[in-house]
Amino acid sequence: MSSPNQYFVLIVPACAALLGMAMIYCWSRLRDHRYLLWIASGYISTAIPLGIHSLMPNEHLARWTVPLSTMYLFGVWALAHGVAVRFGGRSAPRLAGTIMFITLGGLFYFSQIHDDLWLRLQILGWSLALLIALPAKSILLSSRTRPIPLAALLRASYLTTLLYAFFRALALTTLIPREIQPDLTQSGFWLLMLAANMFISIWIALAILTSTAMSIVQTLDHERSQDPLTRLLNRRAFFEQVKKRLERYGHTGWAVIICDLDHFKIVNDTWGHAAGDRALKEFGALLARTVRQDDLAARFGGEEFVLLIRSTSLHTAVLVAERLRSSAMNLHIPATAHTLTASFGVVQLNSNGDINQAIEQADRLLYEAKHAGRNKVIWKAS
Ligand code: GH3
Ligand code: MG
Ligand code: MG
Repeated sequence: MSSPNQYFVLIVPACAALLGMAMIYCWSRLRDHRYLLWIASGYISTAIPLGIHSLMPNEHLARWTVPLSTMYLFGVWALAHGVAVRFGGRSAPRLAGTIMFITLGGLFYFSQIHDDLWLRLQILGWSLALLIALPAKSILLSSRTRPIPLAALLRASYLTTLLYAFFRALALTTLIPREIQPDLTQSGFWLLMLAANMFISIWIALAILTSTAMSIVQTLDHERSQDPLTRLLNRRAFFEQVKKRLERYGHTGWAVIICDLDHFKIVNDTWGHAAGDRALKEFGALLARTVRQDDLAARFGGEEFVLLIRSTSLHTAVLVAERLRSSAMNLHIPATAHTLTASFGVVQLNSNGDINQAIEQADRLLYEAKHAGRNKVIWKAS
Protein backbone atom coordinates (compact mmCIF):
# COMPACT_ATOMS: atom_id res chain seq x y z
CA MET A 1 0.00 0.00 0.00
CA SER A 2 2.83 2.40 0.62
CA SER A 3 5.84 3.89 -1.04
CA PRO A 4 9.11 4.32 0.92
CA ASN A 5 8.36 8.09 0.93
CA GLN A 6 5.30 7.47 3.01
CA TYR A 7 7.38 5.88 5.74
CA PHE A 8 10.00 8.60 5.43
CA VAL A 9 7.46 11.31 6.24
CA LEU A 10 6.76 9.53 9.53
CA ILE A 11 9.95 11.18 10.75
CA VAL A 12 7.91 14.35 11.39
CA PRO A 13 5.34 12.90 13.81
CA ALA A 14 8.07 10.69 15.33
CA CYS A 15 10.19 13.76 16.13
CA ALA A 16 7.16 15.63 17.52
CA ALA A 17 6.34 12.65 19.77
CA LEU A 18 9.96 12.48 20.95
CA LEU A 19 9.98 16.21 21.77
CA GLY A 20 6.70 15.70 23.66
CA MET A 21 8.16 12.85 25.68
CA ALA A 22 11.28 14.87 26.47
CA MET A 23 9.02 17.65 27.80
CA ILE A 24 7.00 15.21 29.90
CA TYR A 25 10.25 13.99 31.44
CA CYS A 26 11.29 17.59 32.20
CA TRP A 27 7.85 18.30 33.68
CA SER A 28 8.09 15.19 35.90
CA ARG A 29 11.21 16.75 37.47
CA LEU A 30 9.97 20.35 37.46
CA ARG A 31 6.34 20.17 38.53
CA ASP A 32 6.10 23.97 38.87
CA HIS A 33 6.52 24.30 35.11
CA ARG A 34 3.01 23.07 34.29
CA TYR A 35 3.05 24.55 30.78
CA LEU A 36 5.55 21.83 29.76
CA LEU A 37 2.84 19.23 30.25
CA TRP A 38 0.37 21.17 28.10
CA ILE A 39 2.88 21.66 25.31
CA ALA A 40 3.95 18.00 25.52
CA SER A 41 0.28 16.91 25.28
CA GLY A 42 -0.02 19.15 22.24
CA TYR A 43 2.98 17.53 20.55
CA ILE A 44 1.94 13.96 21.26
CA SER A 45 -1.73 14.52 20.54
CA THR A 46 -0.99 15.96 17.08
CA ALA A 47 1.83 13.49 16.29
CA ILE A 48 -0.51 10.47 16.46
CA PRO A 49 -3.09 11.57 13.84
CA LEU A 50 -0.36 13.13 11.69
CA GLY A 51 1.43 9.77 11.58
CA ILE A 52 -1.77 7.85 10.82
CA HIS A 53 -2.86 10.35 8.15
CA SER A 54 0.51 10.21 6.44
CA LEU A 55 0.07 6.46 5.91
CA MET A 56 -3.65 6.45 5.12
CA PRO A 57 -5.10 6.53 1.58
CA ASN A 58 -7.95 9.02 1.02
CA GLU A 59 -10.69 6.36 0.87
CA HIS A 60 -10.09 5.46 4.55
CA LEU A 61 -9.96 9.02 5.80
CA ALA A 62 -13.73 9.46 6.28
CA ARG A 63 -14.06 6.60 8.76
CA TRP A 64 -11.33 8.01 11.01
CA THR A 65 -12.14 11.67 10.65
CA VAL A 66 -13.79 12.32 14.02
CA PRO A 67 -11.33 10.55 16.37
CA LEU A 68 -8.23 11.77 14.52
CA SER A 69 -9.54 15.33 14.24
CA THR A 70 -10.36 15.34 17.96
CA MET A 71 -6.68 14.68 18.61
CA TYR A 72 -5.57 17.41 16.20
CA LEU A 73 -7.94 19.95 17.71
CA PHE A 74 -7.07 19.14 21.30
CA GLY A 75 -3.35 18.97 20.50
CA VAL A 76 -3.21 22.33 18.78
CA TRP A 77 -5.26 23.97 21.54
CA ALA A 78 -3.06 22.39 24.25
CA LEU A 79 0.06 23.72 22.53
CA ALA A 80 -1.29 27.28 22.33
CA HIS A 81 -2.65 27.03 25.88
CA GLY A 82 0.76 25.81 27.13
CA VAL A 83 2.53 28.81 25.60
CA ALA A 84 -0.13 31.09 27.17
CA VAL A 85 0.40 29.45 30.59
CA ARG A 86 4.15 30.11 30.21
CA PHE A 87 3.24 33.81 29.90
CA GLY A 88 0.99 33.61 32.97
CA GLY A 89 -2.23 33.58 30.90
CA ARG A 90 -4.66 30.97 29.63
CA SER A 91 -6.53 30.08 26.48
CA ALA A 92 -10.31 30.40 26.98
CA PRO A 93 -11.10 26.67 27.55
CA ARG A 94 -14.88 27.14 27.19
CA LEU A 95 -14.64 28.94 23.87
CA ALA A 96 -12.10 26.35 22.72
CA GLY A 97 -14.53 23.58 23.76
CA THR A 98 -17.34 25.23 21.76
CA ILE A 99 -15.16 25.60 18.66
CA MET A 100 -14.08 21.95 18.95
CA PHE A 101 -17.68 20.76 19.42
CA ILE A 102 -18.99 22.66 16.37
CA THR A 103 -16.00 21.57 14.28
CA LEU A 104 -16.45 17.91 15.19
CA GLY A 105 -20.17 18.19 14.39
CA GLY A 106 -19.34 19.51 10.91
CA LEU A 107 -16.64 16.90 10.39
CA PHE A 108 -19.03 14.13 11.44
CA TYR A 109 -21.64 15.36 8.97
CA PHE A 110 -19.20 15.66 6.05
CA SER A 111 -17.64 12.26 6.75
CA GLN A 112 -20.46 9.94 7.86
CA ILE A 113 -23.55 11.49 6.26
CA HIS A 114 -22.27 13.40 3.28
CA ASP A 115 -18.68 12.44 2.45
CA ASP A 116 -16.77 15.55 1.34
CA LEU A 117 -13.02 15.52 1.99
CA TRP A 118 -12.46 19.04 0.60
CA LEU A 119 -14.99 20.58 3.00
CA ARG A 120 -13.56 18.59 5.90
CA LEU A 121 -10.11 20.01 5.16
CA GLN A 122 -11.53 23.55 5.11
CA ILE A 123 -13.38 23.10 8.40
CA LEU A 124 -10.37 21.55 10.13
CA GLY A 125 -7.85 24.03 8.71
CA TRP A 126 -9.78 27.14 9.82
CA SER A 127 -10.72 25.68 13.22
CA LEU A 128 -7.09 24.86 14.00
CA ALA A 129 -6.10 28.41 13.10
CA LEU A 130 -8.87 29.81 15.34
CA LEU A 131 -7.82 27.62 18.28
CA ILE A 132 -4.22 28.81 17.96
CA ALA A 133 -5.44 32.42 17.84
CA LEU A 134 -7.43 32.16 21.13
CA PRO A 135 -4.58 33.04 23.54
CA ALA A 136 -3.03 35.63 21.19
CA LYS A 137 -3.75 38.51 23.57
CA SER A 138 -2.29 36.88 26.67
CA ILE A 139 0.86 35.80 24.80
CA LEU A 140 1.58 38.83 22.64
CA LEU A 141 0.46 41.55 25.07
CA SER A 142 1.29 40.00 28.46
CA SER A 143 3.01 42.47 30.78
CA ARG A 144 4.28 40.54 33.77
CA THR A 145 6.27 42.46 36.33
CA ARG A 146 9.03 39.88 36.10
CA PRO A 147 9.46 39.04 32.42
CA ILE A 148 10.15 35.44 31.48
CA PRO A 149 13.47 34.61 29.80
CA LEU A 150 13.47 34.52 25.99
CA ALA A 151 9.99 36.09 25.91
CA ALA A 152 10.65 37.72 22.54
CA LEU A 153 11.75 34.44 20.95
CA LEU A 154 8.73 32.61 22.37
CA ARG A 155 6.37 35.31 21.12
CA ALA A 156 7.99 35.14 17.69
CA SER A 157 7.57 31.35 17.58
CA TYR A 158 3.90 31.68 18.57
CA LEU A 159 3.29 34.41 16.01
CA THR A 160 4.93 32.29 13.30
CA THR A 161 2.73 29.32 14.26
CA LEU A 162 -0.35 31.54 14.15
CA LEU A 163 0.49 33.05 10.76
CA TYR A 164 1.40 29.61 9.42
CA ALA A 165 -1.96 28.17 10.59
CA PHE A 166 -3.94 30.92 8.81
CA PHE A 167 -1.72 30.70 5.74
CA ARG A 168 -2.26 26.92 5.67
CA ALA A 169 -6.03 27.34 5.97
CA LEU A 170 -5.98 29.88 3.14
CA ALA A 171 -3.79 27.60 1.01
CA LEU A 172 -6.19 24.70 1.66
CA THR A 173 -9.06 26.86 0.44
CA THR A 174 -7.34 28.31 -2.60
CA LEU A 175 -4.76 25.73 -3.75
CA ILE A 176 -6.42 22.37 -3.13
CA PRO A 177 -8.75 21.47 -6.03
CA ARG A 178 -12.39 20.67 -5.21
CA GLU A 179 -11.84 17.13 -6.53
CA ILE A 180 -9.04 15.96 -4.27
CA GLN A 181 -6.51 13.58 -5.76
CA PRO A 182 -6.35 10.17 -4.05
CA ASP A 183 -2.70 10.72 -3.14
CA LEU A 184 -3.18 13.92 -1.15
CA THR A 185 -0.92 12.73 1.65
CA GLN A 186 1.92 12.17 -0.82
CA SER A 187 1.48 15.48 -2.62
CA GLY A 188 4.01 18.31 -2.57
CA PHE A 189 1.51 20.34 -0.53
CA TRP A 190 1.37 17.70 2.21
CA LEU A 191 5.18 17.35 2.29
CA LEU A 192 5.62 21.11 2.50
CA MET A 193 3.11 21.22 5.36
CA LEU A 194 5.00 18.47 7.21
CA ALA A 195 8.30 20.30 6.74
CA ALA A 196 6.77 23.53 8.12
CA ASN A 197 5.29 21.58 11.05
CA MET A 198 8.65 20.05 11.85
CA PHE A 199 10.47 23.38 11.69
CA ILE A 200 7.94 25.13 13.95
CA SER A 201 7.74 22.20 16.41
CA ILE A 202 11.51 22.13 16.89
CA TRP A 203 11.65 25.93 17.20
CA ILE A 204 8.95 26.06 19.89
CA ALA A 205 10.40 23.09 21.78
CA LEU A 206 13.91 24.55 21.85
CA ALA A 207 12.66 28.02 22.78
CA ILE A 208 10.45 26.73 25.59
CA LEU A 209 13.06 24.34 27.02
CA THR A 210 15.82 26.97 26.88
CA SER A 211 13.51 29.51 28.51
CA THR A 212 12.70 26.97 31.25
CA ALA A 213 16.40 26.26 31.83
CA MET A 214 17.10 30.00 32.09
CA SER A 215 14.23 30.45 34.58
CA ILE A 216 15.71 27.71 36.76
CA VAL A 217 19.16 29.27 36.64
CA GLN A 218 17.62 32.66 37.54
CA THR A 219 15.73 31.17 40.49
CA LEU A 220 18.82 29.35 41.79
CA ASP A 221 20.89 32.48 41.38
CA HIS A 222 18.26 34.48 43.24
CA GLU A 223 18.13 31.97 46.12
CA ARG A 224 21.94 31.84 46.28
CA SER A 225 22.05 35.64 46.68
CA GLN A 226 19.17 36.18 49.07
CA ASP A 227 18.81 36.07 52.83
CA PRO A 228 15.74 33.83 53.17
CA LEU A 229 14.27 35.65 56.20
CA THR A 230 14.46 39.29 55.10
CA ARG A 231 14.85 38.74 51.32
CA LEU A 232 17.71 41.24 51.34
CA LEU A 233 21.06 40.36 49.76
CA ASN A 234 23.29 38.03 51.74
CA ARG A 235 26.93 38.88 52.51
CA ARG A 236 28.37 37.09 49.46
CA ALA A 237 25.91 38.66 47.01
CA PHE A 238 26.49 42.10 48.58
CA PHE A 239 30.21 42.01 47.74
CA GLU A 240 29.45 40.74 44.23
CA GLN A 241 26.95 43.53 43.63
CA VAL A 242 29.24 46.20 45.12
CA LYS A 243 31.94 45.17 42.64
CA LYS A 244 29.46 45.52 39.75
CA ARG A 245 28.17 48.90 40.97
CA LEU A 246 31.66 50.35 41.39
CA GLU A 247 32.73 49.06 37.97
CA ARG A 248 29.66 50.60 36.41
CA TYR A 249 29.48 53.98 38.19
CA GLY A 250 33.02 54.53 39.48
CA HIS A 251 34.34 54.71 43.06
CA THR A 252 33.20 58.20 44.06
CA GLY A 253 29.87 59.21 45.54
CA TRP A 254 29.18 56.12 47.66
CA ALA A 255 28.57 55.76 51.38
CA VAL A 256 28.44 52.67 53.59
CA ILE A 257 25.99 52.42 56.49
CA ILE A 258 26.23 49.59 59.01
CA CYS A 259 23.49 49.03 61.54
CA ASP A 260 22.85 46.59 64.34
CA LEU A 261 19.62 46.21 66.29
CA ASP A 262 19.95 47.19 69.93
CA HIS A 263 19.49 44.65 72.73
CA PHE A 264 17.97 42.30 70.26
CA LYS A 265 18.56 39.34 72.54
CA ILE A 266 15.82 40.79 74.77
CA VAL A 267 13.24 40.45 71.97
CA ASN A 268 14.01 36.75 71.64
CA ASP A 269 14.19 36.20 75.39
CA THR A 270 10.94 38.05 76.10
CA TRP A 271 8.67 37.24 73.15
CA GLY A 272 10.34 34.20 71.64
CA HIS A 273 12.42 33.48 68.57
CA ALA A 274 9.45 33.77 66.18
CA ALA A 275 8.81 37.34 67.37
CA GLY A 276 12.54 38.03 66.87
CA ASP A 277 12.24 36.75 63.30
CA ARG A 278 9.24 39.00 62.69
CA ALA A 279 11.22 42.00 63.96
CA LEU A 280 14.11 41.18 61.63
CA LYS A 281 11.66 40.89 58.72
CA GLU A 282 10.05 44.24 59.52
CA PHE A 283 13.42 45.95 59.82
CA GLY A 284 14.59 44.30 56.56
CA ALA A 285 11.45 45.56 54.80
CA LEU A 286 12.13 49.08 56.14
CA LEU A 287 15.64 48.98 54.62
CA ALA A 288 14.32 47.59 51.32
CA ARG A 289 11.77 50.39 50.93
CA THR A 290 14.22 53.08 51.97
CA VAL A 291 17.02 52.31 49.51
CA ARG A 292 16.84 53.53 45.94
CA GLN A 293 17.37 51.56 42.77
CA ASP A 294 21.16 51.79 42.61
CA ASP A 295 21.65 51.28 46.36
CA LEU A 296 22.23 47.91 48.02
CA ALA A 297 20.85 46.52 51.28
CA ALA A 298 22.17 43.31 52.81
CA ARG A 299 21.79 41.27 55.96
CA PHE A 300 25.31 40.34 57.03
CA GLY A 301 24.11 37.87 59.63
CA GLY A 302 22.20 37.90 62.93
CA GLU A 303 20.79 41.38 63.47
CA GLU A 304 23.46 43.23 61.53
CA PHE A 305 22.75 44.99 58.22
CA VAL A 306 24.90 46.84 55.68
CA LEU A 307 23.86 49.40 53.08
CA LEU A 308 25.75 50.82 50.15
CA ILE A 309 24.10 54.02 49.06
CA ARG A 310 24.76 56.43 46.27
CA SER A 311 25.08 59.80 47.92
CA THR A 312 26.83 62.94 46.82
CA SER A 313 27.91 63.78 50.37
CA LEU A 314 28.41 62.15 53.74
CA HIS A 315 25.71 64.48 55.04
CA THR A 316 23.06 62.88 52.76
CA ALA A 317 24.08 59.40 53.93
CA VAL A 318 23.81 60.48 57.56
CA LEU A 319 20.31 61.82 56.87
CA VAL A 320 19.34 58.43 55.42
CA ALA A 321 20.69 56.67 58.54
CA GLU A 322 18.84 59.13 60.81
CA ARG A 323 15.62 58.50 58.90
CA LEU A 324 16.09 54.76 59.32
CA ARG A 325 16.82 55.16 63.02
CA SER A 326 13.64 57.10 63.70
CA SER A 327 11.50 54.88 61.40
CA ALA A 328 12.72 51.73 63.21
CA MET A 329 11.23 53.04 66.44
CA ASN A 330 7.83 53.35 64.76
CA LEU A 331 7.84 49.80 63.41
CA HIS A 332 5.10 47.62 64.77
CA ILE A 333 6.34 44.13 65.60
CA PRO A 334 3.28 41.87 65.74
CA ALA A 335 2.62 40.16 69.10
CA THR A 336 5.20 42.24 70.98
CA ALA A 337 5.23 45.55 72.80
CA HIS A 338 8.83 46.18 71.82
CA THR A 339 10.19 49.46 70.49
CA LEU A 340 12.90 48.53 68.05
CA THR A 341 16.02 50.67 68.07
CA ALA A 342 19.24 50.36 66.12
CA SER A 343 22.72 51.86 66.14
CA PHE A 344 24.46 53.10 63.01
CA GLY A 345 27.97 53.76 61.67
CA VAL A 346 28.30 55.81 58.47
CA VAL A 347 31.38 56.42 56.28
CA GLN A 348 32.05 57.51 52.74
CA LEU A 349 33.77 55.10 50.42
CA ASN A 350 37.36 56.13 49.66
CA SER A 351 38.32 56.95 46.10
CA ASN A 352 40.28 53.66 46.03
CA GLY A 353 36.89 51.88 46.32
CA ASP A 354 38.06 49.58 49.13
CA ILE A 355 34.73 48.29 50.44
CA ASN A 356 36.35 46.10 53.16
CA GLN A 357 38.15 49.08 54.58
CA ALA A 358 34.92 51.14 54.55
CA ILE A 359 33.03 48.36 56.33
CA GLU A 360 35.76 48.08 59.00
CA GLN A 361 35.61 51.85 59.61
CA ALA A 362 31.80 51.86 59.74
CA ASP A 363 31.91 48.90 62.14
CA ARG A 364 34.16 50.84 64.50
CA LEU A 365 31.72 53.76 64.43
CA LEU A 366 28.85 51.38 65.11
CA TYR A 367 30.77 50.12 68.14
CA GLU A 368 31.14 53.74 69.31
CA ALA A 369 27.39 54.25 68.85
CA LYS A 370 26.72 51.22 71.06
CA HIS A 371 29.06 52.59 73.74
CA ALA A 372 27.51 56.01 73.53
CA GLY A 373 24.17 54.54 74.66
CA ARG A 374 22.75 52.94 71.44
CA ASN A 375 19.95 54.27 69.16
CA LYS A 376 22.49 56.64 67.61
CA VAL A 377 24.10 57.44 64.27
CA ILE A 378 27.85 58.08 64.33
CA TRP A 379 29.73 59.16 61.21
CA LYS A 380 33.21 60.12 60.17
CA ALA A 381 34.46 62.01 57.14
CA SER A 382 37.24 60.09 55.39
P1 GH3 B 1 23.58 44.93 71.21
O1 GH3 B 1 22.70 46.10 71.42
O2 GH3 B 1 24.89 45.07 71.91
O3 GH3 B 1 23.77 44.62 69.75
O4 GH3 B 1 22.85 43.70 71.88
P2 GH3 B 1 22.15 42.48 71.16
O5 GH3 B 1 21.34 41.76 72.17
O6 GH3 B 1 21.43 42.97 69.97
O7 GH3 B 1 23.39 41.66 70.67
P3 GH3 B 1 23.84 40.19 70.92
O8 GH3 B 1 24.97 39.96 69.96
O9 GH3 B 1 24.14 39.96 72.38
O10 GH3 B 1 22.62 39.30 70.55
C1 GH3 B 1 22.17 39.19 69.24
C2 GH3 B 1 20.92 38.37 69.26
O11 GH3 B 1 20.35 38.26 67.96
C3 GH3 B 1 21.18 36.97 69.74
C4 GH3 B 1 20.54 36.08 68.70
O12 GH3 B 1 19.74 35.08 69.29
C5 GH3 B 1 19.70 37.01 67.91
N1 GH3 B 1 19.59 36.57 66.53
C6 GH3 B 1 20.55 36.44 65.61
N2 GH3 B 1 20.05 35.97 64.45
C7 GH3 B 1 18.72 35.78 64.65
C8 GH3 B 1 17.65 35.29 63.84
O13 GH3 B 1 17.81 34.95 62.67
N3 GH3 B 1 16.42 35.22 64.38
C9 GH3 B 1 16.19 35.61 65.66
N4 GH3 B 1 14.97 35.52 66.15
N5 GH3 B 1 17.17 36.06 66.46
C10 GH3 B 1 18.42 36.15 65.97
MG1 MG C 1 22.52 43.86 68.41
MG1 MG D 1 25.10 42.04 66.50
